[in-house]
Amino acid sequence: MVLDDLGSSLRGTLDTLRGKSRLSEEDVEEIVKEIQRSLLSADVDVSLVMELSDNIKERALEEEPPAGTPARDFVLRIVYEELVDLIGESTDLPLEEQTILLAGLQGSGKTTSAAKMAWWFSTKGLRPAVIQTDTFRPGAYDQAEEMAERAEVDFYGNPDNDDPVEIARNGLEETSDADVHIVDTAGRHALEDDLIDEIEQIEDVVDPDTSLLVLDAAIGQGAKDQAQQFDESIGIDGVVITKLDGTAKGGGALTAVDQTDSSIAFLGTGEEVQDVERFEPDGFISRLLG
Ligand code: GDP
Repeated sequence: MVLDDLGSSLRGTLDTLRGKSRLSEEDVEEIVKEIQRSLLSADVDVSLVMELSDNIKERALEEEPPAGTPARDFVLRIVYEELVDLIGESTDLPLEEQTILLAGLQGSGKTTSAAKMAWWFSTKGLRPAVIQTDTFRPGAYDQAEEMAERAEVDFYGNPDNDDPVEIARNGLEETSDADVHIVDTAGRHALEDDLIDEIEQIEDVVDPDTSLLVLDAAIGQGAKDQAQQFDESIGIDGVVITKLDGTAKGGGALTAVDQTDSSIAFLGTGEEVQDVERFEPDGFISRLLG
């Protein structure tokens, strides 16, 4: 079963249904309450949790379990389907020539993710290049160059130029032998107007096929504002969740996916360039409910 890896209180509640073939309204209320608890502690947005739990409740009470299906499996199936419905499949990234733009606040893990994604594409037989346009954060250039070296991918940046838009333009020209261009951008501590102006200008020049929002798994309730602002300015097609090797469960990403009507592309699971996975819903959902 996909959701075997559940948190102990949710598992406990579901275990009380063992042997039952029908659910009472009380059973459903109890389960929904536990699911709400799990999702809220995983930092999923409150209104989203309410919407999800209403759908789960309605379906669990109205739908007829298929003959022979134990109540426990039936309700788990509904929970899983509702979450998959919201999260969806991994962001579509064809294995062909393309340009990807990364957006996000400072420290979210953009530079690391750029190198990781480039490494991932290289394992698929493509030739990626990382273009570093972050002229704001001291050390961003050196870090990006070093990580691109570790990932063994092409790299362009210019520590002597303080115009990120020009760097982006030059970067695309200088790395024209590459198939996949991953453009890293500057973040700030908050969503200041100049950050948004800058990324809009870069987006104009780069004309990306896909724009990804990079979010720290610990982002929590702040995800909504960020997702909304970046979506309004450049249009977000997918989310990268970083630092999933920590304790945070990444529920904020769900909020971002819902807000931008997008999906999750990659998961970051460590500081090395190889610590990256393409998103797949099952493991992530188990983690959210775990
Ligand atoms: P940026 O400011 O958005 O470019 O963020 P960075 O890529 O510089 O990442 C900020 C910090 O988070 C760095 O110390 C990274 O090593 C670390 N980091 C990024 N991704 C991950 C991850 O998936 N796991 C862990 N443990 N650390 C990460």
